[in-house]
Amino acid sequence: MATHFEPEVWFLTGSQAMYGEDTLRQVAGQSRQIAAQLDDAPDIPVRVVWKPVLTSSADILHVCRDASVQGAVGVIAWMHTFSPAKMWIAGLDALRTPLLHLHTQANVRLPWDEIDMDFMNLNQAAHGDREFGFIQTRLGVARKTVVGHVSDKRVVARVGAWARAALGWSAMRSLRLARFGDNMRDVAVTEGDKVEAEVRFGVSVNTYGVNDLVEVVDRVAEAQVDDLVKEYDDTYRMDARLRPGGPRHDSLRYAARIELGLRGFLQDGGFRAFTTNFEDLGGLRQLPGIAVQRLMAEGYGFGGEGDWKTSVLVRTLKAMSVGVAGGTSFMEDYTYDLTPGEELVLGAHMLEVCPTIAAGVPNVEIHPLSIGGREDPVRLVFDAEPGPAVVLGMADLGDRFRLVANVVDVVPPPQPLPRLPVARAVWRPRPDLAGSAEAWIVAGAPHHTVLSQAVGVEELHDLAEMCRTELLVIDADTEPRRFAEQIRWSQAYHRLAKGF
Ligand code: MN
Repeated sequence: MATHFEPEVWFLTGSQAMYGEDTLRQVAGQSRQIAAQLDDAPDIPVRVVWKPVLTSSADILHVCRDASVQGAVGVIAWMHTFSPAKMWIAGLDALRTPLLHLHTQANVRLPWDEIDMDFMNLNQAAHGDREFGFIQTRLGVARKTVVGHVSDKRVVARVGAWARAALGWSAMRSLRLARFGDNMRDVAVTEGDKVEAEVRFGVSVNTYGVNDLVEVVDRVAEAQVDDLVKEYDDTYRMDARLRPGGPRHDSLRYAARIELGLRGFLQDGGFRAFTTNFEDLGGLRQLPGIAVQRLMAEGYGFGGEGDWKTSVLVRTLKAMSVGVAGGTSFMEDYTYDLTPGEELVLGAHMLEVCPTIAAGVPNVEIHPLSIGGREDPVRLVFDAEPGPAVVLGMADLGDRFRLVANVVDVVPPPQPLPRLPVARAVWRPRPDLAGSAEAWIVAGAPHHTVLSQAVGVEELHDLAEMCRTELLVIDADTEPRRFAEQIRWSQAYHRLAKGF
């Protein structure tokens, strides 16, 4: 019996009965080999499971249904020979899992001096896959098309990016999100249509009274608090005042109690994402700081001020980035350095930045919080690791969701920040601060985002295709005026495409 879930992608090979047993045996052998090569590739974060060659529309429908109900996170299809594509109509219509069309062939080089009609008969993907492309386009099937031999690293990387997006999509579709309290009062962009979110993404978003959480927090056993406080001390650099015997030790114990209570609440309810709101803390004595930071590091989605959309994105990008270096965090554009030619964004939040993006070991610190009117919260403080990253946000435009991404470079802070009591990331957005911010603002994209050092633009494109949700990308080539035009066209397209 399998003891842990290993996500699978199924490898489907199209052909037809006309070729005879001999050829079909060769088709099976070669497609099995290609599936095995993909399965072995470290860049592909899922099992790639070969399925028997498909030669009839009944078989195709069957396997497409099975893939959808048996939980394959995606399907890769390749037409080794010619698979008349009307055979695929019912199957593609029934397919409820992402599709990647791999346009490849068994051989790299043509054996020019040996090639005969048997070879031509066997290796027909060049036109077989075009037939398959036609039917996908005719049916309007969302998919990714990747061209090339599987020995090519770029081909494997593109399949890997899609498989990561499929992991994110799968996580989204089973995601349950708990909101403690509602949105911050009067804030616009953190609002959104939770029914549409469940229709579109499969995400179930529900609100709980924060005092339901407080009850769980208050019930946590002292012995558990002892253990967690010790773990903090072993894992991070600790402000001496927070240590046992120190004047603020009680605050650390209460912060640990919040973490244990929150984790218990989320585990019991099957939640993998949550939100808090500093305006609605009920009986909580501190705004959750270190608790939220560490839960994010475990893979939970989080959004501040009731921002469930960003929480969904944090969880999704974390699911997409399993096994790759680099962290993913809730983030907010906070303030700028506008020094001409060296413009930077300083990103942070009140407390809740994920330590997976930290450069070095975080400090555990306690400082007053000027808003919320509660006791001083304990938090992890650090600078983010420099390197390439993306920032992703989601807005609800009323009739649909819009995703906007910006390619950025996280840089070391130009100077130390000795008086800033929160974790932060400093980045240089592309094309530059003025171009990035103008495009972002014109797109109506949010101030809360996910910053990820682990997920790239290709993965985000693939995810957007799976969700059938608009994604606008701001990168080195973005020119604000052209971008504004692109938004207009994109808007028109998405309105038209609604009925499709
Ligand atoms: Mn905020």
